[in-house]
Amino acid sequence: MPPEVLAQLPTGLLIDGQWRPSTSGTTFAVEDPATTEVITEVADASSEDAAAAMDAVARAFPEWGAVAPRERAEALRAVFDRMTARADELAAVVTAEGGKPLAEARAEVAYGAEYVRWYSEQAVRVDGLARRAPAGTNHQVVMHKPVGPAFAITPWNFPIAMATRKIAPALAAGCTMVVKPAQLTPLTTAFFAEIVREVLEERGLPTGVLAVVPSSSARRVSEPILGDPRLRKLSFTGSTEVGRTLLKSAADGILRTSMELGGNAPFLVFEDADVEAAVQGALAAKMRNAGQTCVAANRFLVHSSVAEDFAAGLVAAFEKLVVGHGAAEGTTVGPLIEAAAVDKVEELVAAAVDRGASVLLGGERPDRRGYFYSPTVLTGVDREAPTVTEEIFGPVAPIVTFDSEEEAVALANGTEYGLVAYAFTRDVNRSFRLAESIETGMLGINRGMVSDASAPFGGVKSSGLGREGGEAGLEEYLDSIYLAI
Ligand code: NAP
Repeated sequence: MPPEVLAQLPTGLLIDGQWRPSTSGTTFAVEDPATTEVITEVADASSEDAAAAMDAVARAFPEWGAVAPRERAEALRAVFDRMTARADELAAVVTAEGGKPLAEARAEVAYGAEYVRWYSEQAVRVDGLARRAPAGTNHQVVMHKPVGPAFAITPWNFPIAMATRKIAPALAAGCTMVVKPAQLTPLTTAFFAEIVREVLEERGLPTGVLAVVPSSSARRVSEPILGDPRLRKLSFTGSTEVGRTLLKSAADGILRTSMELGGNAPFLVFEDADVEAAVQGALAAKMRNAGQTCVAANRFLVHSSVAEDFAAGLVAAFEKLVVGHGAAEGTTVGPLIEAAAVDKVEELVAAAVDRGASVLLGGERPDRRGYFYSPTVLTGVDREAPTVTEEIFGPVAPIVTFDSEEEAVALANGTEYGLVAYAFTRDVNRSFRLAESIETGMLGINRGMVSDASAPFGGVKSSGLGREGGEAGLEEYLDSIYLAI
């Protein structure tokens, strides 16, 4: 990371609009996964710090909730402008702590900023309803108000976008928020939070509306916050396993929850597909962040008549990828996030090979420092292999063949997850049939990317509850009040 960017990064806890050290006086190290070198040390929030952060956002809530929507909107727009002006610096931080190539980090910053712009535009568009009651005896008026202080827990794979996807709608709606970033990537969130703090301060708005508490122990921070009766909302992005635990904790406080959890995206290539377009779509859906995205294509389900062409195209496309440090010129695939991630990918590939899969490309760790794994294509993969049934979170593309649409849909649905699916077909009728028959929150037709700040992002089944982005993302932070008059 450029030294001038590192020098400006806040490394404390943001509570009450002030950056401060942990009450325990301790810190934890943040590492560059491409080199395993320590970038810097960050304050390690204690349970007292977490309680103080919760208290700060609870105190800030009445004032922020009363700020005019237009003022909230304009503050968010100023945050968007500043993020955009500082996009290169933000991207450098994303790459340093998360490993993704700079071009992808810039794309993430732009995507993350879009949530801020979208919710700056939505803050003044909270509609209500008025109508005569069916019995004719009175009128019904429905109004909306912010749910209250909220808590966000974010993952490491999109440290800026997953933060803005929660913070922007919360602030737009009039909620205040404590954020616990992932331990592996707290720096990007701190940079963003400082931009928010500066903008609020310059505009004379309450700076305590956003608190940030990085910690080496997620539970130490989350327990006091979840146990505070003033908390009204929990928004989590991460694994299904942790989501389940958090839902149980949220039950005690009867909290509103948004859960963006794991995925196991099927990528279907039908016999009538444009195979070259499918290969390009596969590259986008599989290789962003070295395969470490919740929307990563996890299983390539390909009609047997085009499977050979598709596999050859994928190998040719993967061969052109350049593995390296995300900040190095020309890199298109960075490292995985940590050593355990490489171990897991290695195990999943070995399990597929044990069950008869062929390795067409990759299948090994490149000989270099850092947490790297080579882009890998597997064919003849057993449908029950863990490579197919589990979230890979690495640059591995397992190809499974099918012979009919019915079989493809059954394979696609044969998982507890339902976040996103991709399908390549030239048949419009089939596209709509798939939207009806595939159990998923999102479906990309002839494209390998679906995310858009203005669209509802989220899953069904074990992939989560609620939606982020679009109009729905704001509703997650609003309560309705029905007035009978
Ligand atoms: P994770 O292990 O579930 O961690 C996510 C966040 O939860 C981190 O901040 C983590 O803190 C925290 N956490 C862990 N255990 C906790 C506990 N007991 N109580 C409270 N917080 C706890 O997931 P991850 O490995 O960071 O992220 C990858 C997963 O996220 C994948 O399954 C991926 O599909 C999913 N994801 C989903 C979406 C979506 O929109 N659906 C988007 C991105 C990622 P620490 O950092 O301290 O562990």
